[in-house]
Amino acid sequence: MPIAAPCALVIFGASGDLAKRKLIPAIYELAKEKLLPEKFVLVGYARSPMTDEDYRKECREAVQQFARTKPFDVAVWDRIEKNTSYVQGDYGSVDDHAKLADHLTGLDQSAGTAGNRLFYLSTPPNTFEPIIERLGERQTHQTGDSGSWQRVIIEKPFGRDLASAKSLNQLLVKNFGEKQVFRIDHYLGKETVQNMMVMRFANAMFEPIWNYKYIDHVQITVSETLGVGSRGGYYDKSGALRDMVQNHIFQLMALVAMEPPVALDARSIRDEKVKVFQSIRPIRGGANGVNDFTVRGQYTAGGEDKAKTDGYKKEKGVDPNSTTETFAAIKLFIDNWRWSGTPFYLRTGKYLGEKLSEVVVRFRSPPLTLFQKQCESPVFPNDLIVKVQPEEGISWRLNGKVPGGTLNIKSVALDFNYEETFHVESPEAYERLIFDAMTGDQTLFIRADEAEAAWAVIDPIEQGWAQSTRPPEEYAPGTWGPKRAMDLIENDGRRWLQGGNEAPDPVIACSLQ
Ligand code: NDP
Repeated sequence: MPIAAPCALVIFGASGDLAKRKLIPAIYELAKEKLLPEKFVLVGYARSPMTDEDYRKECREAVQQFARTKPFDVAVWDRIEKNTSYVQGDYGSVDDHAKLADHLTGLDQSAGTAGNRLFYLSTPPNTFEPIIERLGERQTHQTGDSGSWQRVIIEKPFGRDLASAKSLNQLLVKNFGEKQVFRIDHYLGKETVQNMMVMRFANAMFEPIWNYKYIDHVQITVSETLGVGSRGGYYDKSGALRDMVQNHIFQLMALVAMEPPVALDARSIRDEKVKVFQSIRPIRGGANGVNDFTVRGQYTAGGEDKAKTDGYKKEKGVDPNSTTETFAAIKLFIDNWRWSGTPFYLRTGKYLGEKLSEVVVRFRSPPLTLFQKQCESPVFPNDLIVKVQPEEGISWRLNGKVPGGTLNIKSVALDFNYEETFHVESPEAYERLIFDAMTGDQTLFIRADEAEAAWAVIDPIEQGWAQSTRPPEEYAPGTWGPKRAMDLIENDGRRWLQGGNEAPDPVIACSLQ
């Protein structure tokens, strides 16, 4: 286990939702696990007026409310709280950044943080540029001859298209250098997502069949049961494709599709992921934004209780004539030797029937010769299901004989459930990712060219939709999106397997003669 060097963690946007719900609780859990350096300070930075005392109180309450593990360990938090402070400032103000720099230099002296800084940009994207510029202007924040380091974690969304991602990358490289930049996609910090690499590359059984010859198709669903909530203003300028597909879903897809890396290090793994994005067959808009590869949807009024809505267009902050998609489904092909002709079906949306993130790898059906004469219908194909949330685990669906004197076949599941197997709750993604950034491990972060290659796939789809006069397809809350999302896969003779769409497998009766 690497050991984190003394450092100051500076959270920009310290007054925000992410900081409270995820980042501060993650720091507490790291402290509990004894993974924080001895000499560690936490500095909150935001525009909201707060004293050190106010901020400490907010952080303590955040840990008490949102920490993954209970009960609250007062002694652990007391140690962090002693070294927690707050700096009030504007994100682009030269003077306020000077104040921050002085504060950090003081902490280097008093707390021994040795000039090492981890800056976490937990602010809306319009603040990224001024923060990065101000940090870059201050030479003390650049890696110097002293051997100290300065790193920056940058939240999603990373740009809104290829051009903006490129310009953000240029700014980061100019002011920090790629080795100091940690573009976060918290999906990569999830245990099951990391486990996909272990499953694929630490088990000899998968590699020979992990290709177009044996895999019929792959489907990935990331679904939510609620709408845009208070994020309407942000979401309306983004939409499901940018908010979910370009990052989380593409990352899941890359881990399924990538070639084995030459080593399990940041460079080798990220090299392979980039190649996946570069191999995706371009999807163009089609006539009036309609094609056989993409579906965009928008939720209407409906739903019950907490999931009741007056419809997307009536959400706070949303343009009443908005054509922003709250649902997206895509069929794409990765044009390399391994995946030749194998479709990847991806879908995500708000107000869908169930909250889940799952990858299903469906294998081809076994040859019919053996069972076709004896059985009333073909035996089931095998599925490998990677469950990312809410449950974390992996499930294999295989064919098994139902006990008894007759030959009846049923699809059965071999389940690996993370919690049941290891008797621990899996850590929050942010715990792992903050620790990795402290130790300088970039493996689970997005590299500049990776972000750009993903946008290069998304841009033509967005452009096709933007030019279309056809509005997004409507869907009712609590369903699985517009009908065309079903057609997208059913026209290929397949069906979505997640999300209550899978009828309980019947027993197939076979005779032994
Ligand atoms: P918030 O909207 O809560 O913003 C964080 C802080 O930024 C606010 O407390 C506020 O602090 C400041 N801020 C808000 N709006 C503006 C503005 N227009 N201009 C300047 N400063 C502003 O964001 P979150 O905490 O929810 O998210 C932070 C980042 O993390 C965002 O980039 C988001 O996309 C990303 N993210 C968030 C997730 C979540 O679960 N919340 C999940 C994944 C990513 P003050 O006014 O005190 O300066």
